[in-house]
Amino acid sequence: MKQLLLASTLLLAACSGAETASKTAEVPAEPKVQTAQQQEAKVEAPAKPNITSQDLGGGFFVLLGPGGNIGVSTGADGVYMIDDKFARFGEEIIDVVAGLTDKPITYVLNTHHHGDHTGANAEMKAVGAVVVAHDNVRSRMGMSYMNQAFGRQQDARDAKLWPTLTFSDEMTLWFNGDEVRAIHVPAGHTDGDSIVHFVGANIVHLGDNYFRGMLPFVDVDSGGTLQGMINAQQIAYDLSDVNTQIIPGHGPMSTKAELGDSIKNLQAIHDRVKARKDAGESLQAIIAADPLSDMTALEGFMKKSDVIKAAWRSLGGE
Ligand SMILES: [Zn+2]
Repeated sequence: MKQLLLASTLLLAACSGAETASKTAEVPAEPKVQTAQQQEAKVEAPAKPNITSQDLGGGFFVLLGPGGNIGVSTGADGVYMIDDKFARFGEEIIDVVAGLTDKPITYVLNTHHHGDHTGANAEMKAVGAVVVAHDNVRSRMGMSYMNQAFGRQQDARDAKLWPTLTFSDEMTLWFNGDEVRAIHVPAGHTDGDSIVHFVGANIVHLGDNYFRGMLPFVDVDSGGTLQGMINAQQIAYDLSDVNTQIIPGHGPMSTKAELGDSIKNLQAIHDRVKARKDAGESLQAIIAADPLSDMTALEGFMKKSDVIKAAWRSLGGE
Protein backbone atom coordinates (compact mmCIF):
# COMPACT_ATOMS: atom_id res chain seq x y z
CA MET A 1 0.00 0.00 0.00
CA LYS A 2 2.92 2.28 0.82
CA GLN A 3 4.32 1.62 -2.64
CA LEU A 4 0.96 2.25 -4.18
CA LEU A 5 0.60 5.58 -2.41
CA LEU A 6 4.10 6.63 -3.43
CA ALA A 7 3.47 5.62 -7.00
CA SER A 8 0.21 7.48 -7.15
CA THR A 9 1.88 10.61 -5.79
CA LEU A 10 4.51 10.41 -8.51
CA LEU A 11 1.79 9.82 -11.01
CA LEU A 12 -0.24 12.85 -10.11
CA ALA A 13 -1.19 14.42 -13.38
CA ALA A 14 1.86 12.85 -14.99
CA CYS A 15 0.45 10.95 -17.84
CA SER A 16 -0.63 13.70 -20.15
CA GLY A 17 2.36 15.89 -19.54
CA ALA A 18 0.73 18.06 -16.90
CA GLU A 19 4.11 19.15 -15.61
CA THR A 20 2.93 21.98 -13.42
CA ALA A 21 0.67 19.86 -11.27
CA SER A 22 3.32 17.17 -11.09
CA LYS A 23 5.95 19.70 -10.02
CA THR A 24 3.72 20.89 -7.21
CA ALA A 25 3.27 17.35 -6.00
CA GLU A 26 6.98 16.56 -6.06
CA VAL A 27 8.39 19.56 -4.24
CA PRO A 28 7.60 19.62 -0.54
CA ALA A 29 7.24 23.06 1.00
CA GLU A 30 10.39 24.35 2.72
CA PRO A 31 10.06 24.86 6.47
CA LYS A 32 10.00 28.58 7.24
CA VAL A 33 12.41 28.48 10.17
CA GLN A 34 15.45 26.25 10.09
CA THR A 35 17.70 25.29 12.98
CA ALA A 36 21.48 25.66 12.56
CA GLN A 37 21.63 21.88 12.34
CA GLN A 38 19.10 21.83 9.53
CA GLN A 39 20.98 24.53 7.67
CA GLU A 40 24.24 22.61 8.02
CA ALA A 41 22.57 19.44 6.82
CA LYS A 42 21.26 21.35 3.83
CA VAL A 43 24.78 22.47 2.88
CA GLU A 44 26.40 19.09 3.38
CA ALA A 45 23.79 16.67 2.10
CA PRO A 46 23.84 16.15 -1.65
CA ALA A 47 20.63 17.06 -3.45
CA LYS A 48 18.18 14.16 -3.38
CA PRO A 49 18.19 12.65 -6.84
CA ASN A 50 14.95 12.65 -8.80
CA ILE A 51 16.04 9.74 -10.94
CA THR A 52 17.37 6.49 -9.49
CA SER A 53 18.61 3.43 -11.36
CA GLN A 54 17.84 -0.21 -10.61
CA ASP A 55 20.25 -2.82 -12.01
CA LEU A 56 18.43 -5.60 -13.90
CA GLY A 57 21.66 -7.45 -14.74
CA GLY A 58 23.43 -8.01 -18.07
CA GLY A 59 23.91 -4.28 -18.72
CA PHE A 60 20.19 -3.46 -18.31
CA PHE A 61 18.77 -0.87 -15.97
CA VAL A 62 15.46 0.75 -15.20
CA LEU A 63 15.44 4.44 -14.26
CA LEU A 64 12.72 5.21 -11.74
CA GLY A 65 11.37 8.55 -10.55
CA PRO A 66 8.73 11.03 -11.72
CA GLY A 67 7.35 10.29 -15.18
CA GLY A 68 7.35 7.01 -17.09
CA ASN A 69 9.84 4.26 -16.26
CA ILE A 70 12.94 4.34 -18.48
CA GLY A 71 14.50 1.08 -19.72
CA VAL A 72 18.22 1.27 -20.51
CA SER A 73 20.32 -1.28 -22.42
CA THR A 74 24.06 -0.63 -22.22
CA GLY A 75 26.80 -2.50 -24.07
CA ALA A 76 29.44 -2.41 -26.78
CA ASP A 77 27.13 -0.71 -29.32
CA GLY A 78 26.02 2.09 -27.00
CA VAL A 79 22.79 2.86 -25.15
CA TYR A 80 19.28 1.93 -26.24
CA MET A 81 16.85 3.81 -24.02
CA ILE A 82 13.10 3.42 -23.77
CA ASP A 83 11.29 6.69 -22.97
CA ASP A 84 12.83 9.77 -21.37
CA LYS A 85 10.42 11.26 -18.79
CA PHE A 86 10.10 15.07 -18.64
CA ALA A 87 12.32 17.73 -20.25
CA ARG A 88 13.37 19.08 -16.86
CA PHE A 89 15.03 15.75 -16.04
CA GLY A 90 16.93 15.53 -19.35
CA GLU A 91 20.29 16.50 -17.91
CA GLU A 92 19.88 14.31 -14.85
CA ILE A 93 18.95 11.31 -17.02
CA ILE A 94 22.04 11.89 -19.17
CA ASP A 95 24.18 12.08 -16.00
CA VAL A 96 22.68 8.89 -14.56
CA VAL A 97 23.30 7.03 -17.84
CA ALA A 98 26.88 8.38 -17.93
CA GLY A 99 27.36 6.77 -14.51
CA LEU A 100 26.32 3.39 -15.97
CA THR A 101 28.40 3.41 -19.17
CA ASP A 102 30.88 5.57 -21.05
CA LYS A 103 29.06 4.85 -24.33
CA PRO A 104 26.75 7.43 -25.92
CA ILE A 105 22.94 7.29 -25.97
CA THR A 106 22.41 5.97 -29.49
CA TYR A 107 18.65 5.31 -29.64
CA VAL A 108 15.65 6.44 -27.63
CA LEU A 109 12.40 4.62 -28.32
CA ASN A 110 9.17 6.36 -27.25
CA THR A 111 6.51 3.83 -26.20
CA HIS A 112 3.86 6.50 -26.95
CA HIS A 113 3.49 10.28 -27.29
CA HIS A 114 2.60 11.42 -23.73
CA GLY A 115 4.78 14.15 -22.26
CA ASP A 116 6.00 12.09 -19.30
CA HIS A 117 7.59 9.60 -21.74
CA THR A 118 8.84 11.93 -24.50
CA GLY A 119 9.56 15.17 -22.64
CA ALA A 120 13.36 14.98 -22.87
CA ASN A 121 13.49 13.96 -26.55
CA ALA A 122 15.14 17.25 -27.53
CA GLU A 123 17.85 16.81 -24.87
CA MET A 124 18.49 13.24 -26.07
CA LYS A 125 18.70 14.36 -29.71
CA ALA A 126 21.15 17.08 -28.65
CA VAL A 127 23.56 14.41 -27.38
CA GLY A 128 23.26 12.47 -30.65
CA ALA A 129 20.42 10.02 -30.00
CA VAL A 130 18.00 8.99 -32.74
CA VAL A 131 14.43 9.06 -31.43
CA VAL A 132 12.34 6.13 -32.70
CA ALA A 133 8.59 5.51 -32.33
CA HIS A 134 5.44 4.28 -34.00
CA ASP A 135 4.15 6.53 -36.81
CA ASN A 136 1.24 7.76 -34.67
CA VAL A 137 3.57 9.06 -31.95
CA ARG A 138 4.99 11.56 -34.41
CA SER A 139 1.56 12.49 -35.78
CA ARG A 140 0.04 12.87 -32.30
CA MET A 141 2.92 15.09 -31.16
CA GLY A 142 2.23 17.34 -34.12
CA MET A 143 -1.51 17.77 -33.49
CA SER A 144 -3.72 19.71 -31.10
CA TYR A 145 -6.76 17.92 -29.74
CA MET A 146 -9.37 18.14 -27.02
CA ASN A 147 -8.63 15.75 -24.18
CA GLN A 148 -12.05 15.01 -22.69
CA ALA A 149 -10.64 12.88 -19.86
CA PHE A 150 -8.78 15.90 -18.47
CA GLY A 151 -11.17 18.51 -19.88
CA ARG A 152 -8.50 20.52 -21.62
CA GLN A 153 -7.00 21.28 -24.98
CA GLN A 154 -3.75 19.45 -25.70
CA ASP A 155 -1.48 21.63 -27.84
CA ALA A 156 0.87 20.32 -30.51
CA ARG A 157 4.40 19.79 -29.20
CA ASP A 158 7.53 21.53 -30.43
CA ALA A 159 8.87 19.84 -33.58
CA LYS A 160 12.28 19.37 -31.99
CA LEU A 161 10.66 16.74 -29.73
CA TRP A 162 9.25 14.64 -32.56
CA PRO A 163 10.70 11.22 -33.37
CA THR A 164 12.73 11.13 -36.60
CA LEU A 165 12.59 7.39 -37.28
CA THR A 166 9.10 5.88 -37.27
CA PHE A 167 7.59 2.49 -38.09
CA SER A 168 4.10 1.18 -38.75
CA ASP A 169 3.90 -2.31 -37.33
CA GLU A 170 7.07 -3.81 -35.92
CA MET A 171 10.77 -3.03 -35.90
CA THR A 172 13.76 -5.10 -34.84
CA LEU A 173 17.09 -3.58 -33.85
CA TRP A 174 20.08 -5.84 -33.39
CA PHE A 175 21.95 -4.04 -30.66
CA ASN A 176 24.35 -4.87 -27.82
CA GLY A 177 24.25 -8.51 -28.90
CA ASP A 178 20.49 -8.73 -28.44
CA GLU A 179 17.43 -8.87 -30.67
CA VAL A 180 15.29 -5.91 -29.64
CA ARG A 181 11.75 -6.03 -31.00
CA ALA A 182 9.47 -3.00 -30.87
CA ILE A 183 5.94 -4.28 -31.43
CA HIS A 184 3.07 -1.90 -32.17
CA VAL A 185 -0.03 -2.80 -30.16
CA PRO A 186 -3.02 -1.08 -31.76
CA ALA A 187 -5.54 1.06 -29.86
CA GLY A 188 -4.32 0.30 -26.32
CA HIS A 189 -3.26 3.11 -23.98
CA THR A 190 -3.20 5.29 -27.15
CA ASP A 191 -3.13 4.47 -30.87
CA GLY A 192 0.66 4.73 -31.06
CA ASP A 193 1.89 2.31 -28.40
CA SER A 194 4.80 -0.05 -28.69
CA ILE A 195 5.92 -2.74 -26.31
CA VAL A 196 9.63 -3.51 -26.44
CA HIS A 197 11.01 -7.02 -26.08
CA PHE A 198 14.69 -7.64 -25.41
CA VAL A 199 14.57 -11.26 -26.52
CA GLY A 200 17.97 -12.45 -25.26
CA ALA A 201 17.85 -10.50 -22.00
CA ASN A 202 14.26 -11.64 -21.38
CA ILE A 203 13.01 -8.15 -20.54
CA VAL A 204 9.74 -6.57 -21.72
CA HIS A 205 8.84 -2.87 -21.42
CA LEU A 206 5.08 -2.30 -21.75
CA GLY A 207 4.94 1.49 -21.64
CA ASP A 208 1.63 2.76 -20.29
CA ASN A 209 -0.26 -0.33 -21.33
CA TYR A 210 0.67 -1.44 -17.83
CA PHE A 211 0.25 0.64 -14.66
CA ARG A 212 1.41 -1.84 -12.06
CA GLY A 213 -0.75 -1.94 -8.95
CA MET A 214 -2.99 0.88 -10.17
CA LEU A 215 -6.16 1.27 -12.16
CA PRO A 216 -5.34 1.77 -15.86
CA PHE A 217 -5.36 5.01 -17.82
CA VAL A 218 -6.91 4.52 -21.25
CA ASP A 219 -6.43 7.67 -23.33
CA VAL A 220 -9.57 7.30 -25.46
CA ASP A 221 -9.05 10.81 -26.89
CA SER A 222 -5.75 9.58 -28.35
CA GLY A 223 -7.30 6.48 -29.92
CA GLY A 224 -6.90 4.16 -26.92
CA THR A 225 -9.34 1.42 -25.87
CA LEU A 226 -9.55 -0.83 -22.83
CA GLN A 227 -9.87 -3.89 -25.07
CA GLY A 228 -6.65 -2.91 -26.87
CA MET A 229 -4.87 -2.49 -23.54
CA ILE A 230 -5.96 -6.00 -22.48
CA ASN A 231 -4.68 -7.26 -25.84
CA ALA A 232 -1.33 -5.49 -25.34
CA GLN A 233 -0.90 -7.02 -21.89
CA GLN A 234 -1.80 -10.44 -23.29
CA ILE A 235 0.86 -10.10 -26.03
CA ALA A 236 3.47 -9.24 -23.38
CA TYR A 237 2.22 -12.07 -21.16
CA ASP A 238 2.62 -14.56 -24.01
CA LEU A 239 6.17 -13.34 -24.69
CA SER A 240 7.10 -13.86 -21.04
CA ASP A 241 8.09 -16.73 -18.80
CA VAL A 242 8.61 -16.99 -15.04
CA ASN A 243 12.04 -15.33 -15.30
CA THR A 244 10.99 -12.38 -17.48
CA GLN A 245 11.63 -8.96 -15.97
CA ILE A 246 8.64 -6.80 -16.87
CA ILE A 247 8.95 -3.00 -16.87
CA PRO A 248 5.58 -1.26 -16.47
CA GLY A 249 5.07 2.32 -17.70
CA HIS A 250 4.50 3.34 -14.07
CA GLY A 251 5.02 1.47 -10.81
CA PRO A 252 7.72 -0.95 -9.69
CA MET A 253 9.15 -3.88 -11.67
CA SER A 254 6.76 -6.74 -12.30
CA THR A 255 6.64 -10.49 -12.86
CA LYS A 256 4.57 -12.45 -15.38
CA ALA A 257 2.22 -13.58 -12.58
CA GLU A 258 1.53 -9.98 -11.56
CA LEU A 259 0.88 -9.06 -15.19
CA GLY A 260 -1.54 -12.00 -15.31
CA ASP A 261 -3.43 -10.53 -12.32
CA SER A 262 -3.59 -7.18 -14.13
CA ILE A 263 -5.10 -8.84 -17.22
CA LYS A 264 -7.79 -10.43 -15.02
CA ASN A 265 -8.59 -7.05 -13.45
CA LEU A 266 -8.82 -5.23 -16.79
CA GLN A 267 -10.99 -8.01 -18.22
CA ALA A 268 -13.28 -7.77 -15.17
CA ILE A 269 -13.60 -4.00 -15.63
CA HIS A 270 -14.47 -4.48 -19.30
CA ASP A 271 -16.95 -7.31 -18.68
CA ARG A 272 -18.76 -5.59 -15.80
CA VAL A 273 -19.18 -2.28 -17.64
CA LYS A 274 -20.18 -4.04 -20.86
CA ALA A 275 -22.83 -6.20 -19.16
CA ARG A 276 -24.46 -3.13 -17.61
CA LYS A 277 -24.17 -1.07 -20.79
CA ASP A 278 -25.69 -3.91 -22.86
CA ALA A 279 -28.54 -4.07 -20.33
CA GLY A 280 -29.31 -0.42 -21.09
CA GLU A 281 -27.86 1.25 -17.98
CA SER A 282 -26.59 4.80 -18.39
CA LEU A 283 -22.99 5.73 -17.63
CA GLN A 284 -24.13 7.66 -14.55
CA ALA A 285 -26.12 4.66 -13.30
CA ILE A 286 -23.13 2.36 -13.76
CA ILE A 287 -20.81 4.71 -11.86
CA ALA A 288 -23.40 5.00 -9.07
CA ALA A 289 -23.69 1.19 -8.83
CA ASP A 290 -19.92 1.01 -8.04
CA PRO A 291 -19.21 -2.19 -9.99
CA LEU A 292 -15.47 -1.88 -9.21
CA SER A 293 -15.95 -1.78 -5.42
CA ASP A 294 -13.38 -4.56 -5.01
CA MET A 295 -10.73 -2.40 -6.76
CA THR A 296 -10.84 0.65 -4.50
CA ALA A 297 -7.29 -0.10 -3.29
CA LEU A 298 -6.04 0.29 -6.86
CA GLU A 299 -7.21 3.88 -7.14
CA GLY A 300 -4.36 6.30 -7.71
CA PHE A 301 -3.87 8.47 -10.76
CA MET A 302 -7.19 7.09 -12.00
CA LYS A 303 -10.34 6.83 -9.92
CA LYS A 304 -12.90 4.06 -10.40
CA SER A 305 -15.30 6.49 -12.09
CA ASP A 306 -12.57 7.54 -14.59
CA VAL A 307 -11.93 3.93 -15.50
CA ILE A 308 -15.63 3.12 -15.85
CA LYS A 309 -15.96 6.13 -18.16
CA ALA A 310 -12.96 4.98 -20.21
CA ALA A 311 -14.38 1.46 -20.44
CA TRP A 312 -17.75 2.90 -21.48
CA ARG A 313 -16.19 5.09 -24.16
CA SER A 314 -14.00 2.17 -25.33
CA LEU A 315 -17.26 0.31 -26.00
CA GLY A 316 -18.48 3.14 -28.21
CA GLY A 317 -20.45 5.03 -25.55
CA GLU A 318 -20.55 8.81 -25.78
ZN1 LIG B 1 0.84 7.66 -21.08
